[in-house]
Amino acid sequence: MKEFRVFDTTLRDGEQTPGVSLSVEQKLLIAEALDRLGVDVIEAGSAITSEGEQEAIRKIAEHGFNAEISSFARILRKDIDVAIDCGVDSVFIVCPSSDIHIRSKFKKGREYVLEKGIESVEYAKDHGLIVEFGAEDASRADFDFVVKLFKSAGEAGADRVCFCDTVGVLTPQKTSEIYTRLQDEIPIPASIHCHDDFGLATINSLYAVLNGADQVHATINGLGERAGNASLEEVVMAGEILFDLKTGVDKQHLYNVSRLVSKLTGVMVAPNKAIVGDNAFTHESGIHTHAIIRDSSTYEPITPEMVGRKRRLVLGKHAGRASVEAILKELGYRADKEELEEILKRIKEIGDRGKRLTDADVQTIAETVLEIKKESRVKLEDLNVVSGKNLMPTASVKLNIDGKEVVEAGIGLGPVDAAINAIKKAIKNIADISLEEYHVDSITGGTDALVEVLVKLRKGDRIVTARGARTDIIMASVEAVVEGINRLI
Ligand code: MN
Repeated sequence: MKEFRVFDTTLRDGEQTPGVSLSVEQKLLIAEALDRLGVDVIEAGSAITSEGEQEAIRKIAEHGFNAEISSFARILRKDIDVAIDCGVDSVFIVCPSSDIHIRSKFKKGREYVLEKGIESVEYAKDHGLIVEFGAEDASRADFDFVVKLFKSAGEAGADRVCFCDTVGVLTPQKTSEIYTRLQDEIPIPASIHCHDDFGLATINSLYAVLNGADQVHATINGLGERAGNASLEEVVMAGEILFDLKTGVDKQHLYNVSRLVSKLTGVMVAPNKAIVGDNAFTHESGIHTHAIIRDSSTYEPITPEMVGRKRRLVLGKHAGRASVEAILKELGYRADKEELEEILKRIKEIGDRGKRLTDADVQTIAETVLEIKKESRVKLEDLNVVSGKNLMPTASVKLNIDGKEVVEAGIGLGPVDAAINAIKKAIKNIADISLEEYHVDSITGGTDALVEVLVKLRKGDRIVTARGARTDIIMASVEAVVEGINRLI
């Protein structure tokens, strides 16, 4: 089993995702999670960017993580100076290598960047840093020149080289040819940095490893400029499961790190994203779920537990008897054959109307059919919300929790946010619940339309969905949240 190193660039290339900017504390939190995950290198940022960036890199470098802490640097002395000042272990020195990059950045020729590149490597080595020397836009450069750059960097003391597919135009075949030659001609370890412009970042990275690369640059959730970088979770899992390659990554942390990065960057993971997407281990169709319950390998290439997740069965018009039974069991209900048929019929009716069934819907249907009367532990007694042009949206709420009245107030970015914050405060003594998702749909047109709110709430590792429908958007939201809370507790 060949092993390769993982160079994580979530905090540098990943942070260059349009619209993403992380605070010092957020970067430190992500670095902690990456270190726990077991990546070999954490590229903490680009020190020259700003003072805030330097503070973040310094804190990460001082923390004493197992991973090597790196900063990005151009072939400029001032970039390397600030990186040294932040106390990093290494620098990732990136040198333009294609003529189009060389011309547009320096208005000079190849000889100029070669000279500057070597100077930078020597300078960083003189200051005791580990040096990874990257050729930017190497996939569109004259390959002979890239090899010359790498050879010279190695002779100047660089510890590793990195072939950067800056605009994501490599293919597995081209990657194989490139690394076969690099392995022959470059004596120091080689790394690869891929972008996903054509959806090939993962496979190109793995083909590099199969042909001699020692290290892969990747980001959590495949964040990064434009279409993003190679996704760490895909490279690690596909590498191990499909190509018999090994890394030091602790796979069971993958999902948690993905969720943390999504939360802190504000970039949602697509539901159909490999490994970490919401639907990656969710099953709806009756035929699938029936088989899955018997033997999960029928429709799952790996188990969700492997990457720290749980399987989810959802119900809709494709629901089958087996999945309904499984969900009823989870709810602690037992239904006879007739009751089960009736529950299934009602679920399919709702599914046929094009509706997503929430967990609360299924529970309500089951309780109605099984004639179970359940008292809600949390009831809404009163709600007041004020918002206006020069007002901070404020909400006060009176809840009845287990027969006791609890009054709380909250503020928020908008009236719905304020109301939900007030409810969260009111229930904080019985449960720590977080709102994971919030969708609003207007069922009919017009300002008097019925609006439907769908929420996804989490308590620990349990997730439920619940719905509220009203003409009043705030009430619909609160209703959905209260219903979800009752399901969770
Ligand atoms: Mn990049």
